[in-house]
Amino acid sequence: MPKKIIAGNWKMHKTAPQTAKFLDELISKLPFTEAQVVVAPSFVNLAEATALTKNTKITVAAQNMHQAEAGAYTGEISAPMLTAVGVNTVILGHSERRQYFGETDGNLVAKVDSAMNHDMTVIFCIGEQLADRNKNNHFNVVEYQLRDGLFHLDKKFWKNIVVAYEPVWAIGTGETATPEQAQEMHAHIRGVIAKSYGADLAKNVSILYGGSVKPENAQLIFSKPDVDGGLIGGAALQVDDFIAIINAI
Ligand code: 13P
Repeated sequence: MPKKIIAGNWKMHKTAPQTAKFLDELISKLPFTEAQVVVAPSFVNLAEATALTKNTKITVAAQNMHQAEAGAYTGEISAPMLTAVGVNTVILGHSERRQYFGETDGNLVAKVDSAMNHDMTVIFCIGEQLADRNKNNHFNVVEYQLRDGLFHLDKKFWKNIVVAYEPVWAIGTGETATPEQAQEMHAHIRGVIAKSYGADLAKNVSILYGGSVKPENAQLIFSKPDVDGGLIGGAALQVDDFIAIINAI
């Protein structure tokens, strides 16, 4: 069985005091859940977030990292820097990174490899643009993003891989994929993984849905058999909404 995961991607939101306030409240209100709860604050707040969530069931993730160990890369953050402050999970390949920061399949492979070298868990984001879906090309686009980013990996690394399907047209737009659209893409993703790595491995990979998940629609989306949780943007910024989504899994 894949692990159930609810992850909040805070993007460029929350200062240090806001991060501390959110985490204090989340810790005090966190319901019992078998799902893994993940929050991804900005880089500058990661160290404090790992300190605040120590001895809780909350995992802290980074939203990105550089592929090199160290070097002359002004403004960048490496895997050893993250693990040194207790961050062992990283979101890679988010569509905003691909779209606004020129992230390519090539440097994503290097980032994934760096994460694997440091025994980090990767939440790897894939998803089609609206134009791809309108041309009925969405299954292909997602399949190639998955293959290009992850299929160089040896089987043994897949225990550290989480896939997040985030259709770009559903991110921050209020427009959600229907539970049926999410299910058919998640089943496709699992099938593509099974073709290369075998059904036993594929059935244990957590595949998260992301794109305008809210307390109102979470339960229906999570009820689908191949949806193992969510990567939440806007609705992860308010403790009560985030908890409602955790309760929906
Ligand atoms: P929204 O939930 O705000 O649509 O964002 C989804 C997302 O991009 C999470 O990574």
